[in-house]
Formats: sequence, C-alpha cells, structure tokens
Amino acid sequence: AKGAGKNQWRRYQSHLHGAMVERLELRSALDHAVNEGHFLLQYQPIVSLVTDEAVGFEALVRWHHPARGVIAPDQFIEVAEESGLIVPMGRWVLDQALHTVAQWRRILPRTRQPYVSVNVSVRQFREAGFVEQVRASLEFAGVPPQALMLEITETLLMGDDEHIWSDLEILRDLGVRIAIDDFGTGYSSLGYLRQRPIDVLKIDKMFIDDMVADDQQFALVRGIVSLAQNLNLTVVAEGIEDANHRAILAQLGCPLGQGYYYSSPLDATEALTWLRNPQPI
Ligand code: C2E
Ligand code: CA
Ligand code: CA
Ligand code: CA
Repeated sequence: AKGAGKNQWRRYQSHLHGAMVERLELRSALDHAVNEGHFLLQYQPIVSLVTDEAVGFEALVRWHHPARGVIAPDQFIEVAEESGLIVPMGRWVLDQALHTVAQWRRILPRTRQPYVSVNVSVRQFREAGFVEQVRASLEFAGVPPQALMLEITETLLMGDDEHIWSDLEILRDLGVRIAIDDFGTGYSSLGYLRQRPIDVLKIDKMFIDDMVADDQQFALVRGIVSLAQNLNLTVVAEGIEDANHRAILAQLGCPLGQGYYYSSPLDATEALTWLRNPQPI
C-alpha cells in the first residue's frame, strides 16, 4: 500500500509539472502574440428588446494563433491576467474597438450610432494612468465618450478599492458608460449599487438559462430587473438563445439583451451589415 501511495504521489507530481510547463508555454506564446498583435475582435450586438435593433456591441477578443487558429478567451484570459499581459492586450483591445466604432459611426446616420462595450480586467484598472489612457484612446479614435461602455466584473469591486471607484467616477463624468458584468454571480452586497458610478447591470447567462425551468431563478431575474428600474439603471440580459427567453424578458420589462438568438459575435464588417438590417437568426 505504501508503494502505491508513492506511485500516486509521483503521478500527481508529474501531472503538476506537466500543467506548469503547459502554463509556461502558454505564457510565452501569449507574450509573443502580444508583441506580434495576433489578436482579433468580434462584436456581439446588444439589442433593444422593444425594437429588436442594436444599440451597441460587445467587443470580444480572440487569439489568432498562426498554427492553432482562433482561440477563445477562456483559454487564455486567466494566464494573461496572472502574467500581466492583459495590460498591453487590453490596451490593444480598447484601441481596436474604438477604431471600429469610429468607422461605424462615420457610416451610419446620427440617430443609429452604436456604442462599443469593452471588457476591462482588474489588472488594467490597477495600472497607473488607466483613466488617461482611456481619454487618449477616445481622442485618438475621434469618438465621444458616449461611444464607449466599460464592462467590469462584480468581483473586481468586492475589494471596495476606493482608487478604482474614483477612477470610475472620473470616466463616468466624462460620459463613458459603466456596466457591471456577470451581475449576480459575485455574491457581493447590493449596497454599492446606490451611490456608485454605474449605468448598466448585465445579468449573467446562467440566470437566463435557468429561469425557464426554475421558478426561483425566474424570481431572481425579475428581482434584478425591478431593482435596476428603481435605481435608474439599465439592464442587459446575456445569453438570450431563443424566442422564449426573449419573450419572458421583454414581458418583465428588461430593456436590452444579447445572445445567440439575435447573433453570435461577428466580425466588424458583418456587424455593420447586421446593424443596417437586424434580424434574429
Ligand atoms: P463575458 O463578458 O460574459 O462574454 C459573454 C460570453 O458569452 C462570450 O464568450 C459570448 O460569445 C458568449 N455568448 C454570448 N451569447 C451567448 C449565448 O446566447 N449562448 C452562449 N452559450 N454563449 C453566449 P467569449 O467570447 O468566449 O468570451 C468569454 C469571456 O472572456 C467573456 O465573458 C469575458 O469575461 C472574457 N473576455 C472576452 N474578451 C475580453 C477582453 O477583451 N478583455 C477581457 N479582460 N476579458 C475578455
Ligand atoms: Ca462582458
Ligand atoms: Ca458577462
Ligand atoms: Ca460571463
């Protein structure tokens, strides 16, 4: 039995070693990708549940690996955050997203100009000069702050870091919109919603998935929508996958939604086409 234990331990160690090597390899490949600019953005429409027209697009990053093809963010965002590579990558994402929204806004009539919503990680916020960088990027792209929304996760705010809040305050005073991403998954107290610079709650897909079969999840979604109404916040429901999801949410008075029912994430040019002629798939 003693021998078996030892073998298990060895296997465990070699497994750990393998995982570590993999992580290091991933990290150095990612480092290379950041230097070479091997990323691309896709854009998923954020749609009015009243008119079915897009009001904005969420920018979603993909790693365009020369050998392995297109890699989804859940494969590399974590390592990017740990290694700090999320900072230069995030800078690229912001510039690229603003460049694209600037193009759309030049082409489209004044009444139908979309915003772009960009995911921002904790690491980026902690970096000195983040606010200045956003300001400079907006100016460089030549778009008003109203053309930008920043998505931050609830967990980012759990530390109650005053420095982050004051940065958000400045950005919001400029006219940049602030969204809480994956709202409802962070187990934080709701008190912060009242005094803090927030415009939008994004209800996590998980709740939308479950609300159809689960009365309690449904009650939670309804609760979030009415909470938002009372606090003068707008709501985006994520992961709308079918007409039933859409109908339930519209019935609850949820103003905005996003999901495969409307569109999966698109290339910039496909997104422009969609914007001109929105249609659920
Ligand atoms: P997220 O911000 O919650 O983004 C929504 C994810 O749900 C996206 O996956 C999107 O493609 C997917 N999705 C949208 N509608 C549906 C639907 O109807 N059904 C299903 N099953 N999925 C749907 P994606 O693009 O793989 O992104 C995964 C996560 O990676 C994002 O989650 C976000 O946390 C992170 N991420 C993506 N881009 C960036 C970025 O530029 N910076 C940072 N820091 N994180 C990013
Ligand atoms: Ca997001
Ligand atoms: Ca989300
Ligand atoms: Ca999510």
